[in-house]
Amino acid sequence: MFKSEYLKRVYAGVESRNPNEKEFLQAVKEVLESLEPVVEANPKLEANGILERIVEPERQIFFRVSWVDDNGKVQVNRGFRVQFNSAIGPYKGGIRLHPSVNASVIKFLGFEQIFKNSLTGLPIGGGKGGSDFDPKGKSDGEIMRFCQSFMTELSKHIGADTDVPAGDIGTGAREIGFMYGQYKRLRNEFTGVLTGKGLTYGGSLARTEATGYGVCYYTEEMLKCMKNDSFKGKTVVISGSGNVAIYATQKATELGGKVVALSDSNGYIYDPNGVNLDVVKQIKEVERGRIKEYVERVQGAEYHEGCSGIWTIKCDIALPCATQNEIDENSAKTLVKNGVIAVAEGANMPSTPEAIEAFQSAGVLFGPAKAANAGGVATSALEMSQNSMRYSWTFEEVDAKLKDIMVNIFHNSYNAAKKYGMEGNLLAGANIAGFEKVADAMLAQGIAY
Ligand code: NDP
Repeated sequence: MFKSEYLKRVYAGVESRNPNEKEFLQAVKEVLESLEPVVEANPKLEANGILERIVEPERQIFFRVSWVDDNGKVQVNRGFRVQFNSAIGPYKGGIRLHPSVNASVIKFLGFEQIFKNSLTGLPIGGGKGGSDFDPKGKSDGEIMRFCQSFMTELSKHIGADTDVPAGDIGTGAREIGFMYGQYKRLRNEFTGVLTGKGLTYGGSLARTEATGYGVCYYTEEMLKCMKNDSFKGKTVVISGSGNVAIYATQKATELGGKVVALSDSNGYIYDPNGVNLDVVKQIKEVERGRIKEYVERVQGAEYHEGCSGIWTIKCDIALPCATQNEIDENSAKTLVKNGVIAVAEGANMPSTPEAIEAFQSAGVLFGPAKAANAGGVATSALEMSQNSMRYSWTFEEVDAKLKDIMVNIFHNSYNAAKKYGMEGNLLAGANIAGFEKVADAMLAQGIAY
């Protein structure tokens, strides 16, 4: 636990104010633990109440989303937008549509987003939103009516210079399109208020690929600098089979790795010959089907029920790209026993604190989510720049900027950890590097900003 009295006090305050929000408390604790040496070296942080302020969202909006299903029945969901910190730019963060969404989940994601966005080096603050709506099994009409109702309320709180939401679990190009159309109707303005838009109405090339590609660029740099190694010839296991997992699979394969497993919330596939991504894309992106259909189309592949079994597959590199807390201590220890050399988080907070400890104490390279998956939001910020300029960069231009950003994130995190005597601890380094810029901006802007 904490050595500093200041940190103890701040964390106790967060616990008493947010009881039962376990994901939020987990995320806050992890960041505060990393900040121990920073707090000790900078008394100004306590004098200005920086930590008390950074753990409390600037604004939280919870709202009713009513819509009518295909049978004419009224449905009610809960909508969320947490505008966590705007010290360095407009709030920025995705919209998650999943039945597990609640205040704790949105707040943990929003809190993480502050530091991730800062790490990108771009001027974006931290926010997150979503709803407990389940898009699975819904018709296009139902999705559209939900998205329109959701945006009818959300539109009152966002704007191209205020708060710019994007996609996340359950929110892809289709949902962003419906939400954007509704915003435009209500406000009569064509601005870059959402990112992840389609290419015909202001989207950026390479945004779809950005998070997955970014995870691999970061991992490649981590392997190069810390182990003089690369993806070449490595066996890779990737969880999930959504946006992040698909494009991580593509880039890992291009870089010379062999991806042998993917999953969804029901189970996982194992293909010893290397996953055929065209088949996966057809099932997931075109047909919106389940990953188990893969084994009906590809000889030699196996399907297993349950998600956690994927971590029993022997691999060199593991990229969790599904959801929070998907790797627990047992799974982490199994990966270590099977010889994993690097883990980089494509999903947000996919490893439990005990799993991270198991990786780090075994000397496994560990790339935390805030750093490793920041390529998505970084490219969203590039989409915002293109919208402001009313101009589009080519795929190659955006991809090159993304790669630079991911390489810089690795080095900034590495150097920040080294500066505070924790060389090689990329988790602490990412938390510190992300925090320092935001804290500096908060100090400069005074207390009642
Ligand atoms: P998608 O909705 O495209 O895919 C999510 C994948 O994860 C699906 O395969 C889904 O399976 C699986 N999944 C979701 N919930 C669970 C669960 N409770 N247990 C097991 N598997 C689950 O989302 P993304 O690929 O966009 O997001 C994946 C992760 O990456 C999330 O943590 C997200 O926050 C993070 N992320 C995404 C970014 C982006 O740009 N999209 C940016 C940065 C981070 P099923 O179909 O069965 O639900």
